[in-house]
Amino acid sequence: MPVQTVRTTAEMQQRSEALRMSGKRIALVPTMGFLHEGHLSLMREAKARADVVVVSIFVNPTQFGPKEDLSRYPRDLEGDLSKCESVGVDVVFAPADPKEMYPDGYQTWVEVTDVSKGLCGEKRPGHFRGVATVVAKLFNIVRPYLALFGEKDYQQLQVIKALARDLNFGIEIVGMPTVRDPDGLAMSSRNAYLSPSERERALALSRGLRTAHHLARNGVREVRELVQAVRKELEAAQVREDYVEVVDAETLRSLTTIEPGRPARVLVAGFLGTTRLIDNLAL
Ligand code: AMP
Repeated sequence: MPVQTVRTTAEMQQRSEALRMSGKRIALVPTMGFLHEGHLSLMREAKARADVVVVSIFVNPTQFGPKEDLSRYPRDLEGDLSKCESVGVDVVFAPADPKEMYPDGYQTWVEVTDVSKGLCGEKRPGHFRGVATVVAKLFNIVRPYLALFGEKDYQQLQVIKALARDLNFGIEIVGMPTVRDPDGLAMSSRNAYLSPSERERALALSRGLRTAHHLARNGVREVRELVQAVRKELEAAQVREDYVEVVDAETLRSLTTIEPGRPARVLVAGFLGTTRLIDNLAL
C-alpha cells in the first residue's frame, strides 16, 4: 500500500475518527521530517504494535527560539515519504502550512512544569511549551492509542510522559533507544549542518558520555568527576559546551552523587559552530 499524505487538520481528524470507528488501533510517530534511521526505528516499532501507523511531519515553529534555526531547518518531504513507505507507514500527516496547526487567533498553550526545568528547558526558553502544545494537539487530532518517541531527546520524552499522564490522554508513551552512526554519533536531522571536520569533532559528545558511563561502571560516584570527564572530551575537540549534567533518570533533578539502585542519566549539549547537538546515556 502506498503511503497516504494528509495536508489538513480537518482531513486528519476525519480519517482518524473513521479508523477508530472501525476498531483500528493507531500508533503515532511525531517528527519534524528530514528522516533518518532513528525516526525509522520508531516507525518499525509502531508497525509491530498497532494496526495503523500515522507519522506526522511538521517543523513546529512554536518550539524554536527567535535566534534558532527554524528558517533553515532541513526539509525533504519527497524523500521522507519514500522512507515512510519503505517501512510500511500508512498515513503521513504533513500540515501544508503552520496555520493548519496555529490558525489566526490561536491562544492555547500547554506547560509541563517540573521536568521542563533545567537542561534544554533552561537553555531554550519556551521550547518545551512549544513541544507539549504541538504534541497535545497531535494527540487530539490523531487520537492514537500509542505514541513513540526517541530517548535521543531524553528530556522531551519525560515531558511527554508527564503530559500524557497529567492530562489523562490515555495514550501509552513508548521511549525508544537512540540510534547511532557506526562511529557513535547520535543520528539527528541537524547533523546535516555539520562540515566534515565538525562531524569528526562532534564525536566528542558520545565519546564523553561513554567515558562517564565507563567511570560509573567502575565505581566512580562523584558527579563532579563524571562531568569533568565529559568536559575534557568536549574541550579537546573544541566543542563549546551548552551543558553537561548528571540527573535522576526520572525526575531530571541534578545529582551530586550517583547511587546504586537509583537510575541516573548523563546529558550533554554542545555547539559545533552554530550547530547545537545533544546526546545522553544511562549511567
Ligand atoms: P525530530 O524529527 O528531531 O523532532 O524527532 C522525532 C522523533 O524521533 C523524536 O521522538 C526523537 O526523539 C526521535 N529521534 C530523533 N533522533 C533519534 C535517534 N537518533 N534515535 C532514536 N530516535 C530519534
